[in-house]
Amino acid sequence: MTTGKSYTCHIENSAKSNPLGGVIKLNSAKFVALDKYRRWTYVLHEVIHLLGFSEVLSQKWEYLAYNRKYTAAELTVTASVRGVTSKRFLKTPKVLEKARSAFNNPNLIGVELEEQGYYYNNINANNVSHWDARVMFNDIMVIRSISEMIISTVTLAIRR
Ligand SMILES: [Zn+2]
Repeated sequence: MTTGKSYTCHIENSAKSNPLGGVIKLNSAKFVALDKYRRWTYVLHEVIHLLGFSEVLSQKWEYLAYNRKYTAAELTVTASVRGVTSKRFLKTPKVLEKARSAFNNPNLIGVELEEQGYYYNNINANNVSHWDARVMFNDIMVIRSISEMIISTVTLAIRR
């Protein structure tokens, strides 16, 4: 198992389908070899998955303006970009607002999701779980861990 392999899961209550807890499984031998900052950002990355930035949990996000869950069409859009067909973009209103502001581009259709395979077997590829690292380079929710991770306004807008 690589350092990048960790697992999250969630437990749901039946009333609102919100996660009540989760588990993060780390490769302890590799995790302790990281510096303190990278350990902190690594755990925070996994916590953000537990809080809802995942394919499964995104289907339970509430569209607060309408007091219901987002439909699939309201959550993501698929387009071709840089030769990648079927590229998915997250496009909730708050994510769009923050991304358009951050990139100073009022025409963004959403924020690109990572299409690269998740370590092996394309697990999570193109799912609602990681920003495309090409676009969100050092955001804490890209698929890789580097030494200078940030928490962008776009990531903070995920659950709003
Ligand atoms: Zn992740």
